Amino acid sequence: MKDSDCIFCKIAAGEIPCTKLLEDDSAIAFLDIGPLAPGHALLIPREHYVTVDQMPADVAADVLKHLPALGRAVQAAVGCEGFNILQNNGSVAHQVVPHVHFHVIPRNPDDEFGFNWPAGSYPPGRIEQLAEDIRKHLK
Ligand code: AMP
Ligand code: ZN
Repeated sequence: MKDSDCIFCKIAAGEIPCTKLLEDDSAIAFLDIGPLAPGHALLIPREHYVTVDQMPADVAADVLKHLPALGRAVQAAVGCEGFNILQNNGSVAHQVVPHVHFHVIPRNPDDEFGFNWPAGSYPPGRIEQLAEDIRKHLK
């Protein structure tokens, strides 16, 4: 499955260049050309899926199995203290490239990358009700 207009499909097919880190039949990882920090990497499925919820579970597993080694390698290479895995779905969630990708973003104390994380709270009973609704949709 490929989208002829998709830049990451073209990277996966070798039609446009990338700075490759790893590849196999299911996945490819390369350095982000607009890094939030040196070593910022992207892991993508070879096949075209726009958002992560579209991915068959076995394809997701085949891609995600690379995350531990990729995280270790980036951390060892750039000497960062930690890293974020970030995955955006939909333009409202800041997805710009409509082909699933997992960002591996090196983090260091006082770096410039930050989240707005406006943690809220639930009124009594709401958390149990929400969990029930979500569980229904998991079936
Ligand atoms: P997102 O906002 O999650 O869709 O992120 C898309 C990411 O893809 C950005 O961090 C871009 O810098 C990166 N990107 C776009 N085009 C390329 C490319 N040709 N090679 C490497 N990274 C790219
Ligand atoms: Zn694609």
